[in-house]
Amino acid sequence: MAQALRIEPDVQFIRELQAAGGESLKKCYQCATCSVACPISPANDPYPRKEMIWAQWGLKDKLVADPDVWLCHNCGQCSDLCPRGAKPADLMSAMRNMAYRNLIPGSAIGKWMQSPKGLPVLFGIPAVIFALIWVFMAAINFGGWYEGGSLFPTGRVVPGKIFYGDYTVDPVFILVTVFVVLSFYKGVKNLIASIAPQGTTMVLGKKKNILVCLLEVIFLEILPHSKFAECGDAGEKNSRKIGHMCLIFGFISLAVVTGVFFVGHWVGRIPGLEFIYMEVPLPFTNPMKILAQVGMLLLLVGLTMLTVRRKGLDPAKQSSNFYDWYLIGVIWAVALTGAFTQFFRLADWAVLAYLVYYLHLVTVFMLIAYLPWSKLGHLVYRTAVITYIRSMGRKAV
Ligand code: SF4
Ligand code: SF4
Repeated sequence: MAQALRIEPDVQFIRELQAAGGESLKKCYQCATCSVACPISPANDPYPRKEMIWAQWGLKDKLVADPDVWLCHNCGQCSDLCPRGAKPADLMSAMRNMAYRNLIPGSAIGKWMQSPKGLPVLFGIPAVIFALIWVFMAAINFGGWYEGGSLFPTGRVVPGKIFYGDYTVDPVFILVTVFVVLSFYKGVKNLIASIAPQGTTMVLGKKKNILVCLLEVIFLEILPHSKFAECGDAGEKNSRKIGHMCLIFGFISLAVVTGVFFVGHWVGRIPGLEFIYMEVPLPFTNPMKILAQVGMLLLLVGLTMLTVRRKGLDPAKQSSNFYDWYLIGVIWAVALTGAFTQFFRLADWAVLAYLVYYLHLVTVFMLIAYLPWSKLGHLVYRTAVITYIRSMGRKAV
């Protein structure tokens, strides 16, 4: 005779999941339309129906150990076709939102990133750091770059006159980068540890080399955004794919420019590589300047496409929450403050140029320093999970 299985639902977990974006999960009546409708859910490991019942029953251990949460690309097709308005896409997204918060235990940033209430602190930290740098630099240069104690240097607008790279901006961002890398290391380690013991949702085959899997995931899936071509309805597949690709290649372009500057500045003139040593501001014909402009343009195009898409979502089918808008808002702020700094600098409007550059530094800090707790963290976490389960020999990913 079959044994009865007593289920101990974690009610607090259900409430947290609803607050993180899965508020309609109770409406699900397990028809499985969503798993059939999902274009990328494999036949032998389907989702998101099983996640809906696990969420309703408060089976936290099952959900936390479920790699499929990270395979979902949030296209919303399952929610469009759900006959009960249970919004399975939102549930998958809510699980990821909870992971951003909880993967690195003890961090206050995860709590601040939960709702708009944390925004003043998230903004205030870099605002104070860069304001102190500004005031300090003005004080020590009193009578030099500054006239009559003004906070604004005279002469040609060069942001580095206030935010001098060597002693101010570079050390801050070096520390931020180390902090983010260590945080991601901890988060990925915890994530893999949480999915490693489970096997019930995986059909495992022959193990593969993890490095080969990582390269496959990066070059065959993430950079070409191949899953986006399969996921979503016909009308919006392309706009999602192009919007995301513009963003990622915009970021890559700007990261290359920053990296070349950094090496050129700190390493100096390297024989044969003199071109990486650059005096700022660069002329518009410099290849790095051109790459920076292309990167900025890609960011603006990608942001416009993704913002229009998100604004156009039917709230009865798919909702947007603070995690979605924080990311879009901060990337907009980085792109616009970068573009306007250049505009005001060229127009020689010193006060506006320095103020907007200050805001640019604040928003870049908000984008990078909180990365492991923001929605953009999925770039690292999803890559890690897909790589791991492929290396373990999961047949369908
Ligand atoms: S989420 Fe909707 S489509 Fe999926 S099983 Fe539940 S009721 Fe059916
Ligand atoms: S949002 Fe898209 S990818 Fe995610 S489960 Fe639904 S249909 Fe599948």
